[in-house]
Amino acid sequence: MTTHIKTCPICETQVETKVEAAPDWYHNDSGILLRIYCNEICRDYLIAATPDKSGKVWVEKSTQTLLNLLNDERRGFFSRAVRGLRDNNCWLIVDYSEIHTLLRDRQFAIRAATQFGLKNVKIEHTRAGFDAENRVFFLFAGQHQQQRFTLRVHEVGADFNGIHSTLFWQMSLSQKANLLVPEPLSDSNDAFILPVSVPGRSEQRYCTLYRYIEGKDAQAIGNLTPAMVANFGEFVSKMHQHAAAFQPPTWFTRPYHPREIEGIPKVPENYGIIHREIENSVNVLFQGERAGAIDFQECWWGYYVVEIAGLLESQESFVANHQAAFLEGYQRIRQLPENFEEIRKMLRK
Ligand SMILES: [Zn+2]
Repeated sequence: MTTHIKTCPICETQVETKVEAAPDWYHNDSGILLRIYCNEICRDYLIAATPDKSGKVWVEKSTQTLLNLLNDERRGFFSRAVRGLRDNNCWLIVDYSEIHTLLRDRQFAIRAATQFGLKNVKIEHTRAGFDAENRVFFLFAGQHQQQRFTLRVHEVGADFNGIHSTLFWQMSLSQKANLLVPEPLSDSNDAFILPVSVPGRSEQRYCTLYRYIEGKDAQAIGNLTPAMVANFGEFVSKMHQHAAAFQPPTWFTRPYHPREIEGIPKVPENYGIIHREIENSVNVLFQGERAGAIDFQECWWGYYVVEIAGLLESQESFVANHQAAFLEGYQRIRQLPENFEEIRKMLRK
């Protein structure tokens, strides 16, 4: 099959293209796609495609129709979103649904920024940690767009108390434990979770705003020094220490890790709020050598040893290659249980 597409369907510059079969994780896995080599602007990406009767391949019709309707501003936003994802090794197959939901969520983000009192805002899709249900945006505000924030548009039907609990935990880590985590911000009425509506849509979405943390995530850095990994160990240990002393308010509600460990009582010293997705390198942040974490969205109750073992064992985790440095850093603050190696073996099963 051949194609006559010679320009990028998003930014309309001259490109090379190739017809490809859809990967098996795509919802239409028997479909065909076009790979667009828009190296300078949108990078190389995949877009939904269909053949005509003569076998020539075109951009799938509803996708093309939606792209045709975009003004320059939206088109530019979408192009930068695709490039950002590709530069972070995330795949997104451009089709009607992806364009539609991303631009819809951007509408919520624009309204939310106004409700939070931000002026002169420019909005970009986040590059890392792609979660299409709970979309995160970067905001640039102020006269010279020098103030930076991140904003989360929570999924439809998200539980208010669940979000509130996550924010409370993050605030506590940031303000009481003085750790490098995104600090939640409020509007002028001290509200941290704003219900946001957009014209023409019946659903409300909760939106939350955070101070942006300067730094680079562990995946982007790639080659971490043992000193940095040790500092990350210390950071995790401080989170656990803070969790051990944490007294949740009565309304506080987070899910429970299903893992039970025989012989370890569920007391604050062993069991508390853990990050849950910290093995993922894009959630670990460094400011120089100082370690921190982002994306506490999924935090839950669990054993600290489960989080430590997860970091040491997980294939995705950079800690697996620097175990001694991590454990040295961890033990600057808290001691591991005496039978940690036994517990670790047991958790592998
Ligand atoms: Zn392009």
